[in-house]
Amino acid sequence: MSALLEVSGVSVSFDGFKAINNLTFQIGAAEMRAVIGPNGAGKTTFMDIITGKTKPDEGHVLWGEKSISLLSMSESRIAQEGIGRKFQRPTIFEDQTVADNLMLALKKNRSPLAVLRFRPREEDHAKVADLAEQIGLTAALHRKSGELSHGQKQWLELGMLLAQDPRLLLVDEPAAGMTPAEREHTTEILVEAAKTRAVVVVEHDMEFVRRLNCKVTVLHEGSVLAEGSLDHVTANEKVIEVYLGR
Ligand code: ADP
Repeated sequence: MSALLEVSGVSVSFDGFKAINNLTFQIGAAEMRAVIGPNGAGKTTFMDIITGKTKPDEGHVLWGEKSISLLSMSESRIAQEGIGRKFQRPTIFEDQTVADNLMLALKKNRSPLAVLRFRPREEDHAKVADLAEQIGLTAALHRKSGELSHGQKQWLELGMLLAQDPRLLLVDEPAAGMTPAEREHTTEILVEAAKTRAVVVVEHDMEFVRRLNCKVTVLHEGSVLAEGSLDHVTANEKVIEVYLGR
């Protein structure tokens, strides 16, 4: 199976400090991947490279069937290519309803001209209903988003990203601050999303990673230290030494 995203030999330095060091990474078109590693391992910088926020000094990043280089593209162009990123802090419009937020996200998906002319059609309302179901917010569809719980806000933002139908979704600590039931529901949303797209989850919570039941990439000092199932990587001596601190 060819990779959807291929990162090869990528390095990036900040003031002479190598935050990413000869990093190589691949993910398939419908694959879930957890990326773990201690603080300062390079996880954020890695995602910044994929989304075009940070340009590496060396290496290449290839994307899609035609393996075009992402490195020549702007951040907005990369987003148009179908790479979506969810940060920890949700960026929903709190004074708008869940439905309005989802509709706005659908609207954002159109070309600039189409955005100006956007009038929700029947199919857009149906899509909003589908998205609400995917994220488990059907009953909250007409509630103000500001009234939602922490977990519900995170799901709404996931729904807003899914509205744009990214081919690769990058998610930073999706379960942070959630109750066990909310974590469970977040797992379900992500597992479902990864059936039709690539999903990269950066996560500290090992129990959450276990539930994702996917291949794990361990970063350390800007490189891949180990890769494989969670059981495989957590049995690795080097991982135990640097990551688990034992
Ligand atoms: P993680 O997300 O795994 O905690 P980061 O990617 O944030 O790691 O950081 C990797 C290393 O690069 C850290 O040592 C961090 O201090 C450094 N770093 C990240 N961004 C910058 C920056 N803009 N300027 C200087 N150093 C940075």
